[in-house]
Amino acid sequence: MPISFDLTDQQEALKKGARQFADTYLHDLSAQVRSTPDPLERALLARPVFEKAVEAGFLKGLIPMPFGGLASSGVDAALFVEEFASASPDFTISLAGPLIALAPVYEAGTPEQIARFVAPFLVDSGSPVAAMAYSEPGGSANFDAPPPAEGTRTTAILDGDHWVLNGEKIWASHLGGWDGLGPDIMSVVCRTPGGVSIIVVEREQLSTGFSVEEVYDLPGLKGCLTSRVKFDNVRIPKSNLIGEEGQGVQLTRNAFLASGASIGTFSVAAMRQAFAAAFAFATSEKRGGAVPIIDHQAVADVLTDVKGKIEAVRLLSWRALDAVMSQHPSALEMALHAKIFGSETAVAVINDLVKIVGVEAYNPSFPILRYLADATAYPIIEGSNTGVRRRQMHDLMRTVGWDPLAASGMA
Ligand SMILES: Cc1cc2nc3c(=O)[nH]c(=O)nc-3n(C[C@H](O)[C@H](O)[C@H](O)COP(=O)(O)OP(=O)(O)OC[C@H]3O[C@@H](n4cnc5c(N)ncnc54)[C@H](O)[C@@H]3O)c2cc1C
Repeated sequence: MPISFDLTDQQEALKKGARQFADTYLHDLSAQVRSTPDPLERALLARPVFEKAVEAGFLKGLIPMPFGGLASSGVDAALFVEEFASASPDFTISLAGPLIALAPVYEAGTPEQIARFVAPFLVDSGSPVAAMAYSEPGGSANFDAPPPAEGTRTTAILDGDHWVLNGEKIWASHLGGWDGLGPDIMSVVCRTPGGVSIIVVEREQLSTGFSVEEVYDLPGLKGCLTSRVKFDNVRIPKSNLIGEEGQGVQLTRNAFLASGASIGTFSVAAMRQAFAAAFAFATSEKRGGAVPIIDHQAVADVLTDVKGKIEAVRLLSWRALDAVMSQHPSALEMALHAKIFGSETAVAVINDLVKIVGVEAYNPSFPILRYLADATAYPIIEGSNTGVRRRQMHDLMRTVGWDPLAASGMA
């Protein structure tokens, strides 16, 4: 983006439209989700709102323009994701499935594959969902590890014109779709004879041999429809392999770029909500003293420090999403910083805000621990920070000629 920190008229309109949508639908949805004990029942509450978001064009706002969507810039995506995630991060994660699941298709799909796999999401009605099936029961941090490690355990073997898929996947939103019969598309990281590969599975191919084994009741992000699913000789056309066999490691790493950068924005949303709650408390509560607690320097200092961190993560996340969406050379490094710094800052910031609120933070009607529960997911989802530090940032810094000034444009 040209360097300007003012939103354009269109971006102002996008922000206001997203805020209005959140005010109309997402706060209520979030309250209903919190009061519904069954994890499947509460996740399904999102479906009618999802349909409204599709009608309003927000799903297309996550598909880049070259592939037929409306996502023209990363800052635009950040604006509406922040507004949505401030009201309901779980809903927003559910909506944002294509951001990660379609990334390998954009990167290595043939024109025919791109047209076929993106089409379900270029609609003005319905509730299409996409899943990135990477994680497996028993762990996936070492998905690319060579033997004797197990690495990726899900396998696909060719039988005539079809891949035959066997294994289990876990955690990804919408692995089972809304009805347990599968999402519209699922990008499956699996082991083929040629190495770790990605095969896109379409919903109709899951009609035989696919089952949802368990739906999870998460401690935060409670509206996410998160499950464990099993493939038992599921047959997928040979033509659904993305790129070459063995290209799955690179495609999987890159798939986490846009979604990883967006975690910076999810982190901003959680911090923004926590700050608002703590600030309202600090300016209104005296806790038996003579003045509101914000008049005590110790409280004001915490608010000063966390506000600066929120602003820093917001700018970093805009920069990272802009770089990813425009395929700027700094995209990888900026996305990693937004993911790692953003998510870890959010957990620390909200914890600091809990301390200045004090015991009332433990009152179930006070929302701040909810934001903390959501934020604790951010260092581990969309590429765990341990993994991306080790696998991507470490590699980048050891690349011959890596210039620490390059990503910022200051080289
Ligand atoms: C709400 C939610 C949404 C999610 N969405 C998705 C999704 O869309 N798609 C998807 O596939 N997954 C998804 N996940 C799972 C998530 O992406 C995890 O990051 C992923 O499963 C890997 O977890 P892990 O890194 O903890 O790996 P694990 O394999 O479980 O490893 C556990 C820990 O062991 C340590 N460790 C293991 N190996 C090493 C090593 N070689 N070096 C150093 N430390 C090591 C690390 O501390 C690591 O965190 C989601 C999870 C949640 C909760």
